[in-house]
Amino acid sequence: STSLMWFRRDLRLSDHPALSAAAGSGTVLPVFVLDPRLLATAGPVRTSCLLQALDALRRATDGALVIRTGDPATVLPDLVAAVGAEAVHVTAETTPFGRRRDRAVEAALDVPLVGTGSPYAVTPGRLRNAEGAPFQVYSPFARAWREHGWRPPAPTPRVRWSRRVDSEELPPSPLAGAEDAPELPVCSEQAAQERLRAFLDDGLVDYAEHRDRPDLDRTSELSMHLKYGTVHPRTVLDGLTGIDARSRAAEGAQKFGGELAWREFYADVLWHHPRSAWQDLRPTLRGMRYDEPGATFDAWRAGRTGFPLVDAGMRQLAAVGWMHNRVRMVTASFLTKDLHVWWPHGARHFMAHLRDGDLASNNHNWQWVAGTGTDPAPYFRIFNPVTQARRYDPEGDYVRRWVPELRHLEGAAVHEPWKTAEGTASGYPAPVVEHAVERAEALVRYEAVRG
Ligand code: FAD
Repeated sequence: STSLMWFRRDLRLSDHPALSAAAGSGTVLPVFVLDPRLLATAGPVRTSCLLQALDALRRATDGALVIRTGDPATVLPDLVAAVGAEAVHVTAETTPFGRRRDRAVEAALDVPLVGTGSPYAVTPGRLRNAEGAPFQVYSPFARAWREHGWRPPAPTPRVRWSRRVDSEELPPSPLAGAEDAPELPVCSEQAAQERLRAFLDDGLVDYAEHRDRPDLDRTSELSMHLKYGTVHPRTVLDGLTGIDARSRAAEGAQKFGGELAWREFYADVLWHHPRSAWQDLRPTLRGMRYDEPGATFDAWRAGRTGFPLVDAGMRQLAAVGWMHNRVRMVTASFLTKDLHVWWPHGARHFMAHLRDGDLASNNHNWQWVAGTGTDPAPYFRIFNPVTQARRYDPEGDYVRRWVPELRHLEGAAVHEPWKTAEGTASGYPAPVVEHAVERAEALVRYEAVRG
């Protein structure tokens, strides 16, 4: 008998419980549906990553992968009929759109839609606190998550691929030939495994110490791979086991596992509160006065605010489709607290440019920074972009890497170019706002709604 394996955010063959389930019942027709509704919002960066991962998956399936464009609720029943499939296997989807779409597909199929596993170590929605309610705060979630644990990685199945249906060609990358196209790393299962191995071998040792330093590049950069499922988080977590508890790598592993728990936490929050994708999760700040995005918002997007760390981050985002976590926090804080722009405007810009752009992680991190999300940072603790720069980019190397107009400034002087005449000599802009003034303004607006 034959079944369909409908791939989505799980573009790999190893540690893939849904594929194992499909392979257990005969030949497998591997399918990916290019859904115009999703492509319309994905933007060129993520579409380009997706197409790369699909190209790799097609090779990994010896060319068997079938690509179809359209609504899965019509495409899949046609394919089921074409090969006489007995079931459609999927990794269960947990996002608001994914869940809606899967219900529609299930209704359109006359064979079962079988969900096995999820893109998370612990399926969103599974964990509850002692009162049986969803977790609202990260730390108790992370504790429960570790206690719950996860299965060991699934062995890679032997699959007999069905070749009874022709595939469409993959469309060309929307970035092909584009001027100033961002430089993206390879998105494939093989690249994910190489990245993971390199990070486990060499990155864990100083991860706890250096993960906050954008100048040092000491994080895993696995986020894109986790996004497309070219690696499963369970595989990553499995790599953290068996480390000598007294070693520095063990400290790194503990910290790193905690970061993966943030990803799982926000997926869980989204599962329970689908509206929180684009609405304030906490009602507290709903009356907050924001400014309409205008000229300063344009300066923020272009990396021309006159605050070097903010601008370096925004230019890194444009240049490579990724930004260091510390700088994501600083740029997001700057938009929401110094420019008083409501977080969804910033979140949308990030989603359009991040190669790891993920609704749950992106939008809930934005809400955390904006003070509207789950256990947010206290609103009155507003990031000072210069203090942050001095602390986390102490020599100024990160800023000089991304802001060429400031390369002539030495050391930490690069963080305050307005202090010298030569600072702005190469066309670098003056600050678009004064931080102390806007900080005070943010606090006034906060006091007005705090109640
Ligand atoms: P590492 O430090 O190596 O961390 C390992 C993994 O843990 C990451 O790949 C990621 O899956 C997870 N992780 C780490 N930090 C977080 C976090 N704060 N929240 C959720 N998961 C985390 N992450 C995304 O994957 N997609 C996004 O769209 C996204 N948008 C963000 C927007 C803002 C405003 C902020 C402050 C953070 C955002 N993050 C997002 C979280 C974090 O910045 C990235 O996951 C991280 O920078 C990715 O780089 P890395 O893989 O080298 O991270």
